[in-house]
Amino acid sequence: MAAFYAMTVPEFLGELGLLQRDVFDLEWRLSAGEGALIAARTGVSEVALQAMTFQEITPDARIMIARKTRHHCPSCPADVHRKAPSFPWMFQCPIHSIDFRDVGGAILPDILGSAHLAALQSHAKTGAAVLDSWARGEGQGAFGPVEMLLFLTTRHRRASPPNVSEQPRMSLGTRRDYHAFLTTPIIRQALAVIVPEYDHVAPVLVKPVRPGLHALAQGSLLQAFALTVGIGRIAEDPVARVIKVLLASDADGQERVKDVLRAWPLSVRRRISARLWRAERDERVRQTAEKAARGRQSHKLRYVQSHKCRYRIS
Ligand SMILES: [Zn+2]
Repeated sequence: MAAFYAMTVPEFLGELGLLQRDVFDLEWRLSAGEGALIAARTGVSEVALQAMTFQEITPDARIMIARKTRHHCPSCPADVHRKAPSFPWMFQCPIHSIDFRDVGGAILPDILGSAHLAALQSHAKTGAAVLDSWARGEGQGAFGPVEMLLFLTTRHRRASPPNVSEQPRMSLGTRRDYHAFLTTPIIRQALAVIVPEYDHVAPVLVKPVRPGLHALAQGSLLQAFALTVGIGRIAEDPVARVIKVLLASDADGQERVKDVLRAWPLSVRRRISARLWRAERDERVRQTAEKAARGRQSHKLRYVQSHKCRYRIS
């Protein structure tokens, strides 16, 4: 509204006689008196003014509201702070229907690739719907984004240096120069198992996300998208997703994951343990078969090599 009157926000608040008020607090909860005052001075109805605030958002979700524009739409004026994009699970401008840009100006189709992004959209939509209803206090009680984010950000394996697929190609000389980078232990979180698409594209040093709700509230555009996809995938099939993480965990990590799961509903936990032993057995069978296949392959290779050798000799 300040922009409409060609004023700065403090100037506009001064005009309204609200100079001492923090605009973020006004946006959070506008008292009836303040609503009436602004309505009288601007001609905007009190209902319309209340609709510009976050009054329907529960206190637990306040952490998710950005004080400034989070990710920017190139077609929106820089000084206009819209309500919908204040939440980290919004990835397109609702006015212009174009992708938000991150701090470096990149858009999700560039970072993830259009095909990957298209495949992830339905999970992101589910995740955003779960988050939206939670923020409005419509969640189904015990099991919601808070528990899911704690799970996604759990360290399921011990920290380890960048693996081969995470390292850029470099010569031996360069490798010596980058010794510190190559040996930096990277925190390994369940998010990488639930959303491997994120694991593949996120730069290794900024791959770890903050714990719990902070991961989403303070994450980059890519991190927020990955977490929203993760929440969508968990909401769609919690049992299968948890088992996937437990199978990929090391011993200490598995304990940490199980600790986090204690906050999940008993019915889901029972289904997880009922399916876990079978999944572990299948995994052992698969690993044994893989080992045997590798053995056969190297045997074959030896055979071929010895043949080639004999051929060359003759
Ligand atoms: Zn826009």
